[in-house]
Amino acid sequence: MGVALITGGSRGIGAATARHLAQDGHDIAVGYRSEAEAAEGVVAAVRDLGRQARAFAADLADVDGTEGLIAAVEAQLGPIDILILNAGVNSPMQTDARRVSVAAWDRFMAINLRSPFIAARRVIGGMIDRGFGRIVLVSSVAAYTGGIVGPHYAASKAGLHGLAHSLAQMGAGHGVTVNVVAPALIETDMLPSDADSQAQLASRIPVGRLGRADEVADLIAALVRNAYVTSQSILIDGGMHPS
Ligand code: NAP
Repeated sequence: MGVALITGGSRGIGAATARHLAQDGHDIAVGYRSEAEAAEGVVAAVRDLGRQARAFAADLADVDGTEGLIAAVEAQLGPIDILILNAGVNSPMQTDARRVSVAAWDRFMAINLRSPFIAARRVIGGMIDRGFGRIVLVSSVAAYTGGIVGPHYAASKAGLHGLAHSLAQMGAGHGVTVNVVAPALIETDMLPSDADSQAQLASRIPVGRLGRADEVADLIAALVRNAYVTSQSILIDGGMHPS
């Protein structure tokens, strides 16, 4: 069993993924930006499952933050076998492209797309050399539809799909798979928490409710277990966007 780094592992989908991968026998590096208490809570939950875990603070908006995160995990837990690129930002919502500043565009690209590129290129060579690796990038239905956050978010997520296909070509034949999971409307801190907003969002989903972080984590864990699914993008959106 290997070492899994989960960016954005302190809350929501990332925290659920940490628990699922620990249940599958992996040791866990919990990446986070500022919510140390939440990250330590995930570490404790993983240790309760009998696996090693540590929390690592890094701001993935900075190139050095991503580089430093990878170096720190490798120094403290060993080579990264499983990389879950899950950290992301999605606010403020602004769907009118004319109102999205270049600064906002750059920030979304830095966190949602550049950081995954930097992290993946740091680890994929070692995965290929060792003959095993799993990379899962967490995108969004917005990559397909434009979504409800804005063009900067949709474009940053769509970029992950091209990155994944390119990395998958590198890894194929070397035991390394690279896939994208694209959720929509999962009940986490990223969505509004008041009942009216949640009911309004749920009314857009054919399944009739918001998704659960554990349901996304379950899909990510399945991709980590599977050696034959690679270069795929899988929507988990309650039927919002048939593909
Ligand atoms: P969440 O509950 O808001 O958690 C976000 C996580 O990302 C936290 O662990 C946060 O760390 C970390 N993070 C944010 N900015 C960061 C930065 N600059 N540097 C390092 N870490 C940073 O989010 P979520 O709903 O679980 O979303 C996880 C992923 O799913 C995101 O990529 C999101 O775009 C995608 N997604 C979510 C939904 C949804 O409906 N929830 C839908 C589509 C796609 P701290 O705890 O320290 O702040």
